[in-house]
Amino acid sequence: MPIYEFTCRKCGETFEELVLGGRIEGIKCPRCQSEEVEKLMSACAFKSGGKFVSSSGGTACSSCAGGTCSTCGR
Ligand SMILES: [Zn+2]
Repeated sequence: MPIYEFTCRKCGETFEELVLGGRIEGIKCPRCQSEEVEKLMSACAFKSGGKFVSSSGGTACSSCAGGTCSTCGR
């Protein structure tokens, strides 16, 4: 599941959202409902095309696919 971390430019809230098809339009901050959110590049691996890839070349973090990034820490 492609779950990305976002940060809100207005209130600074950081949250995670499931992104389908790479589209981040319409994603709102859960705190202030602003759409001015920025996608954070994390070191987490995410599932793409049936195999795990990592944006950092590091080891895949299985918990990322489950919705949290506490294992890989970024
Ligand atoms: Zn906000």
